[in-house]
Amino acid sequence: MELFRSYNQYVRERYGKKGWRISVDSGFSCPNRSADRKSGGCTFCDPSGSRPVYLDDEQTLWQQIDTGIALAKRKYKAEMFFLYFQSYTSTYASSDKLEALYESALSRADFRELIISTRPDCLPEETINLLKNLKARHSLEVWVELGLQSIHDKTLERINRGHDYRQFLESFAKLKAAGIKVAIHLILGLPGENDSDIKMTLAALSELRPDGIKYHNLHIPEASPLFCEFSLGELPLIGNRHYLELVAWSIERLPPETIILRLTTDTPSARSGRIPGHFWNKQKFVNELNALLAGRGSFQGAHYNESVSEIS
Ligand code: SF4
Repeated sequence: MELFRSYNQYVRERYGKKGWRISVDSGFSCPNRSADRKSGGCTFCDPSGSRPVYLDDEQTLWQQIDTGIALAKRKYKAEMFFLYFQSYTSTYASSDKLEALYESALSRADFRELIISTRPDCLPEETINLLKNLKARHSLEVWVELGLQSIHDKTLERINRGHDYRQFLESFAKLKAAGIKVAIHLILGLPGENDSDIKMTLAALSELRPDGIKYHNLHIPEASPLFCEFSLGELPLIGNRHYLELVAWSIERLPPETIILRLTTDTPSARSGRIPGHFWNKQKFVNELNALLAGRGSFQGAHYNESVSEIS
């Protein structure tokens, strides 16, 4: 039995059958990698921008959807589908262009949820209104996956995020006010952060009561700027057990209803430069997490609402 609220559990409870996220690429790139900013993007950024490996560069949007649905049916026995704009920043266009893109994709299959992955500084009022309207027009659940990584501005600056924590809080509040579900992306083990910094982030986000959370261990693609820091030996990495303890600490302090959408970085083995190279696979991590929580008679939300003054 899982001692935390997994995404599969949410789907089962809500829809009563097996659903699968169909990942597509909007082709929009990312403002943090744009020529105007000259920033080069987040230092951990994979140039592919989290593009699913099964997608072919030449495929149209509809072809991506058809490929994803065929794969989900064949490999995972999925019975219903959620449309997931996963790569780069999927709101990085005018609201007219976004509307045309989202509508076209939604018309291709009977999708039950629309999930958009983006950044806190790429959600103007018109885009949030568009998402709100799509939710009403299609009777869909609409999620935004919002990348934050850390609440500490010194870390966000160091990893070149191009936004601060205040911008995240503003976008989070606007999305919630519009009835959009929000899942937050975090990375544990960022450069310059110790356990106390990480726990401050985890505790602050728990207080926000997000609809969902995605935990990531730091992954360093060979083509990323962070790889240089790593190669020079200037970047200590946290190991499996250490990361497990931090995730467990967080889950115990999350609201019971928050959905855990991801526990570790989803790095396809086919991709080069897998660092750290010996990280547990997903199932092993879930088993270890359940064993750790069970061993101390704990579960998601066991310490929710308790003071976290022990952070030091
Ligand atoms: S926001 Fe995402 S796509 Fe953009 S630079 Fe950062 S990691 Fe890369």
